[in-house]
Amino acid sequence: MLEHDVIIVGGGLAGCRAAVEIARTNPSLNVAVVAKTHPIRSHSVAAQGGMAASLRNVDTEDSWKAHAFDTVKGSDYLADQDAVAILTEQAPDVVIDLEHMGVLFSRLPDGRIAQRAFGGHSHNRTCYAADKTGHAILHELVNNLRRNGVKVYQEWYVMRLILEDGVAKGVVMFRIQDGHIEVVRAKAVMFATGGYGRVYNTTSNDYASAGDGLAMTAQAGLPLEDMEFVQFHPTGLYPVGVLISEAVRGEGAYLINSEGERFMSRYAPSRMELAPRDITSRAIAYEIRAGRGVNLDGSAGGPFVYLDLRHMGKEKIMSRVPFCWEEAHRLVGVDAVTQPMPVRPTIHYCMGGIPVNTDCQVRSSADGVVEGFFSAGETSCVSVHGANRLGSNSLLECVVYGKRAGASIARYVSDRKLPAINEQKYINEAKQEIQALIDQPGTLRINQVRQGFQDAMTEYCGVFRTAELMEQGLQKIQAYQQQYSQIYLDDKGKDWNQELVEAMELRSLMLVGQVILNSAFNRKESRGAHFREDYSQRDDSNFLQHTFAYYSVAGIDIQYVPVNMGMFEPLERKY
Ligand SMILES: Cc1cc2nc3c(=O)[nH]c(=O)nc-3n(C[C@H](O)[C@H](O)[C@H](O)COP(=O)(O)OP(=O)(O)OC[C@H]3O[C@@H](n4cnc5c(N)ncnc54)[C@H](O)[C@@H]3O)c2cc1C
Repeated sequence: MLEHDVIIVGGGLAGCRAAVEIARTNPSLNVAVVAKTHPIRSHSVAAQGGMAASLRNVDTEDSWKAHAFDTVKGSDYLADQDAVAILTEQAPDVVIDLEHMGVLFSRLPDGRIAQRAFGGHSHNRTCYAADKTGHAILHELVNNLRRNGVKVYQEWYVMRLILEDGVAKGVVMFRIQDGHIEVVRAKAVMFATGGYGRVYNTTSNDYASAGDGLAMTAQAGLPLEDMEFVQFHPTGLYPVGVLISEAVRGEGAYLINSEGERFMSRYAPSRMELAPRDITSRAIAYEIRAGRGVNLDGSAGGPFVYLDLRHMGKEKIMSRVPFCWEEAHRLVGVDAVTQPMPVRPTIHYCMGGIPVNTDCQVRSSADGVVEGFFSAGETSCVSVHGANRLGSNSLLECVVYGKRAGASIARYVSDRKLPAINEQKYINEAKQEIQALIDQPGTLRINQVRQGFQDAMTEYCGVFRTAELMEQGLQKIQAYQQQYSQIYLDDKGKDWNQELVEAMELRSLMLVGQVILNSAFNRKESRGAHFREDYSQRDDSNFLQHTFAYYSVAGIDIQYVPVNMGMFEPLERKY
């Protein structure tokens, strides 16, 4: 059995920032990070546009309170305001701290960190490294893991959380290289396993964003919070779904329909292309529905709209958003200097997740916490984003709450002993589970089942939702879940069995999809990213509450938990 004081699952921004904090706080602690990818290949590396902080380098009128207000309004008032206050007040310090670790941010001519406009933010406060911000930050954090003596298990797949009598005691994992299974026991376990974009058929997320951490938490009997809030990013490159950063609109690009009209004037006249993502994505979907989308031959009535950068000029495009230019050129053959890019909404971010308090301790109910279990980053829900996240607030969340998780874990483990675990029991169960999958005498390929399931989620729980649609969706995904026992693995071996990993991920995707659909079905209002055509208004009297969804094999039990208010009263949300 492997032993560590702390085991962190996830090598993205949140996991790495937490590990560095623990090692800095108490260098004698034995900390390990495990990731099914190499940490540097975590999805964080793909983050483009930047990280918000009221540094006031460009806009001297900015303040953390203005940032907090924008975040709460952007969240459609569902964010927990104590968590937002921490996020926004600490933002300038964590940016400076990253800078001291070696992160190279883009600069103003006088040498201070540059800041750009972003959707839903009332001031220019997004710090960036061209359009490769995640790359710049994650590389430095991973370097700092090594510098601080953190043990890294790369390309190990964690398949189970060990939770006994309300205490997290470790994880079960296998080495993808050779299928070797290990039990890890630890005084504290942290999940920083990222998002679940692969639940849908078109996403900006990487292949690893399969919601494993969410599924393992739900299977352990713990709740998942606000899972109905799925962010569609307005500008996924058509048809691949790859992200064209909001930074492109932050730098001045227009959205135009088949009639050449800047249609955002009808949906958000004061913010135009820089309205929050829920509003902009719905606007694009309405335009496409109304026949004002574009086809590949340029005619009207097609499945996408245009993102037009041409007026920005080559120099600005190449210096501020070179990677987005390259993506469009490489993937769809568009030269954005002379041609508009085809875009439409793509699944991008998971507002909900594993419920945690502001010390990143996992919550088991409205007022209970789980001993020894922590979470931060996209997979968690401390609820700074509520019903809709503002761009550039997620990298910030990973760093602020990753750091807080680290500090909180260092305090927690200081007087704890390693737990006792029946290692053999867990090894046997893991072996049986893997062998059963490999031996399964099915006839269906993983991809067949996954594609059908992803199409169903996209069709029945997308931008526009109704009870009728979602009821059909629930039946469909139940049918796909039943097909899981009929999938067939070609690869019966132990070494680099990618099919085995995909089969396990598919199980996570399906569980997470079921929780999303049930949570969405029960929320009979429209708020942020959750838009119901049969309940098109926000309903604060019944639903200014967080959803806690408890999974079990028998079904999903939904409870509602109060939102922490305090700074701002709910107002009508107009831009
Ligand atoms: C294309 C793109 C651009 C973005 N741009 C921005 C931006 O400009 N600004 C912004 O604020 N936000 C942006 N976001 C969102 C932001 O990047 C993410 O929310 C954030 O980076 C998530 O970090 P994380 O540490 O929570 O998880 P991730 O970086 O996703 O890392 C998850 C880790 O968990 C590991 N893992 C998962 N499951 C398992 C398992 N079963 N076993 C072992 N390991 C496992 C993975 O290997 C990985 O190491 C963007 C997102 C995308 C997709």
